[in-house]
Amino acid sequence: PLDAQALWQKDRDHFIHPFTDFSLFHDKGCDLIVDSDGIYVEDIHGNRFIDGIAGLWCVNVGHGRAEIGQAMAEQATRMAYFSTFNNLSNAPAAELAAKLAELAPANLNHVFYSCGGSAANDATIRLVHYYFNRLGKPNKKRILSRNNAYHGTTYLAASLTGIESNNWGFDTLDHLVTHLSEANLYRRPKGMSEAEYCGHLVAELEETIERIGAENIAAFIAEPIMGAGGVLMAPRGYHARMQAVCRAHEILYIADEVVTGFGRLGHFFASEAVFDTQPDIINCAKGLSSGYAPLGATLISDEIYEVLGTPQRKGGVLSTGFTYSGHPVSCAAALKNIEIMEREGICANIREVGPYLERQLKTLSHHETVGDVRGSHFMLAIENVADKASKELLPVEARVGDRVAAEAQKRGLIIRPVGHLNIISPPLIWNRDVVDRVVAILDEAFTATTASLRK
Ligand code: PLP
Repeated sequence: PLDAQALWQKDRDHFIHPFTDFSLFHDKGCDLIVDSDGIYVEDIHGNRFIDGIAGLWCVNVGHGRAEIGQAMAEQATRMAYFSTFNNLSNAPAAELAAKLAELAPANLNHVFYSCGGSAANDATIRLVHYYFNRLGKPNKKRILSRNNAYHGTTYLAASLTGIESNNWGFDTLDHLVTHLSEANLYRRPKGMSEAEYCGHLVAELEETIERIGAENIAAFIAEPIMGAGGVLMAPRGYHARMQAVCRAHEILYIADEVVTGFGRLGHFFASEAVFDTQPDIINCAKGLSSGYAPLGATLISDEIYEVLGTPQRKGGVLSTGFTYSGHPVSCAAALKNIEIMEREGICANIREVGPYLERQLKTLSHHETVGDVRGSHFMLAIENVADKASKELLPVEARVGDRVAAEAQKRGLIIRPVGHLNIISPPLIWNRDVVDRVVAILDEAFTATTASLRK
């Protein structure tokens, strides 16, 4: 059996956790999650929780899928690793690339592998720069991103990230990145209609291009729905209009579908199916392997590939990549994950249960702190406020997101606190019964939170 106290001590003394408040951590230590099954995870003391965050937006097919474990074990035993540099390849990497080309929008037929979302975004920007260099347009370097975007924490991805607090104490590559306003329908300027707000954001893009010069801008990168930034919803038509402006100026449109991809919005990719955009590049990770193994992928259009690597442009080595690009065990996990998603109709389940989850969460709006319930399908957030009319926030010290999450956890549900928000991003296998249980727990958690804030 696992020794909780000994593990806690080792963890506390030696494991530097990402995104963790050291002051809280040293007082409270960590929750050791040691078992999992379907929609549940279990801690070292045997407490069982409904997983309301799919690990970290990623365990899309749910926990404990033995057939994914088996596929990984078979691949690891047969050939765990060999290089994919030069002309070497492996069977799962080739199979998966073809499968991704089949699932992606029509012209995205080429895959560059990395080890996760940050690395995928990082590699993408290098590929974009290489592309414009090959085209003889070396000045096209700058990347447009957005405030409150989350694109990861490798050096370049962190610079794309627009969540200010994430970059406190770090340097960013400001000569390469310009941030536009985020698209945040809930907190749009007072008195602006949704359509006017959309026009306002598109005008900002046009003005920025005018100011910097299209000849200096390589790409615009956007999450279809901003995730870690607070599940921020764009006004209707925003992405398609932003893309049209980009296209008119030879600015590549990169969709970061690390969260929205692989079923979370009811489709393998949301860009075209939900947002009516045809990105030049789509990045994915997380749900691609349902978190069973680290993996990221950059899907590249025929048009870009033509410049990067086809015989017509022969000469030149694409000198970028990772030891683990196309790792056979990760690719085997992803192939099995996709097979399960297709066999079980997981995207169809989300198209059916997603709107129900949205509707039921909205029934929590009567609680005193619940200012906004938003998102789409299995990507949702609740924004807590002090005052619903003015949307004024509670003081940071109230730690309202933490309080709600703690009350939920006491009642057997893990959701994610992010400042004053609570994020809900479940495994994609919840049915209506689970939704009802979860909403009942949240109802109690918000009641308890309101009471504790009054004390
Ligand atoms: N892009 C988006 C939209 C994300 O949400 C994340 C992680 O949450 C990343 C990129 C970074 O992915 P990773 O943590 O796998 O590097």
